Amino acid sequence: MPEKLSKLVKEAFDTGRISNLPNKHFIDGKLVASESGTEMESFDPGTGKAFISFSSGEQADVDKAVSAAKQAMANGWGQSLPVNRSRVLYRASALILENLERLAIAETLDCGKPLNESLGDVRGAARAFEYYAGSCDKLQGDTFPLGPNHHGYSIHEPIGVTAHIVPWNFPLSTTARSVAPALAAGCSVVVKPAEQTPITALMLADILKQAGLPRGVYNVVTGTGTNAGAPLVAHPDIDHITFTGSVNTGISVMKSAADNVTRLILELGGKSPITVLGDCDIDSALSGVLGAIFENAGQICSAGSRLVIERSIHEEFTEKLALSTKALTIGHGLKDLQLGPVNSQQHLERIAEYLSDAKSRGLDIIAGGNVITDPRVGAGWFVEPTIIDNLQRNDRMCQEEIFGPVLAVQVVDDFAEAVDVANDSDFGLVAGVYTSNFSKAHQFARDVNAGQIYVNEYFAGGIEVPFGGNKKSGFGREKGLEALKSYSKIKSVATNISLLNK
Ligand code: NAD
Repeated sequence: MPEKLSKLVKEAFDTGRISNLPNKHFIDGKLVASESGTEMESFDPGTGKAFISFSSGEQADVDKAVSAAKQAMANGWGQSLPVNRSRVLYRASALILENLERLAIAETLDCGKPLNESLGDVRGAARAFEYYAGSCDKLQGDTFPLGPNHHGYSIHEPIGVTAHIVPWNFPLSTTARSVAPALAAGCSVVVKPAEQTPITALMLADILKQAGLPRGVYNVVTGTGTNAGAPLVAHPDIDHITFTGSVNTGISVMKSAADNVTRLILELGGKSPITVLGDCDIDSALSGVLGAIFENAGQICSAGSRLVIERSIHEEFTEKLALSTKALTIGHGLKDLQLGPVNSQQHLERIAEYLSDAKSRGLDIIAGGNVITDPRVGAGWFVEPTIIDNLQRNDRMCQEEIFGPVLAVQVVDDFAEAVDVANDSDFGLVAGVYTSNFSKAHQFARDVNAGQIYVNEYFAGGIEVPFGGNKKSGFGREKGLEALKSYSKIKSVATNISLLNK
């Protein structure tokens, strides 16, 4: 481990945290306590202990943040030269990388994931700022062929004040993937991070300030969904909401947005199939399936949580998969093993209910199946990586999002059944296929109803590729140039030029 990183890891193990972590709202360019003075705690999932207190926001704090963001638009952020916005975002990208180690350790302390994954997430956040930095001066409109006496053109205007509600599983990278295009398009921002993971969105505030972002353009209100999230999405001065989280909360956010006719993107849950056909490269598929369900302990909206596998290779494949699963190393995220804890006691209990239901119904658990209570693993919230084999397609293990390290296996007889089973879900976020048959790969891409398809590499692609859901996984697209469209509105201008200059 490089020296800078290992020093900080030691500090975190010795003191339970690292120094100088921000813990107040960031409003109008400053860290400020809640109007009410209320605080709450954030827990290190690896130890189960609180490691920091932070401001718990309410309506009054939301009002202040939205008003600062509105004023920042009035001050001209939306009209600033695109190249100047671009330079701010490039500097932010570089500063994120300069702060790589501190950001990654804060992320691991807050959400539990192995350090290596946090380092990857921070690099991903830097890449998002870099990508959208390059887009600021390319948001160009069209001209329309109206004939010789008319002139028609369109311009992209910033939407205005945008709200970003973020979940706890990828706190910094999810914040970056929506904030960067919003800033690129000339919008101002109010972020409400998850109450379990408020720190890195606040660290980003300092980075954006150093990068030269004018005050009020980026604001963060920390606190619970009920006290801070709900007033933010209901605020009449919010022009766009990007909500990433669960289906039920998404439904309530959508209802609230309807009252003010506020535009929104919903990035919701998933139960994504990773489909392994008999003709695939088995070793690639094995490592693909392991990563798809056990990265971040399965707490990924797009996790490959259903293995749909052809009967011809089922036995050989699941035997190898179970062996590799049992060999995964588990512990505190800062030990940087293969699997970290799940994010909270409450979430652990949710996953434990699925495991005890699987056991009580005698389901075919071929790896794991238990909450870990061994103190050598850690005092925090750990779950064994689990595989449940031979499930019926209507079983709740195949239909409900568990959001933990639990893989549901569904055996199929042929390609047609594989496509049918892949589609048999209320969700439509992602679907993966492993095959050496070019034709089947593209038939799968054509026939499966999902926002993105991965062929022979689960989680393939980066910030360049639009991402979002179908069905109950939501609507709207983040990432790629598509995301910019959400943060700008088209204005069309049509002119009769024959009457001009008379
Ligand atoms: P959640 O819905 O409980 O919370 C998400 C965020 O919404 C948090 O910041 C929370 O404080 C806030 N919130 C809660 N109630 C609110 C309300 N009434 N109004 C406004 N905001 C409110 O979800 P979670 O448990 O934190 O996250 C896990 C879920 O997120 C999973 O379902 C997962 O699939 C989904 N997710 C989706 C994506 C995607 O890109 N599609 C990415 C990550 C996570």
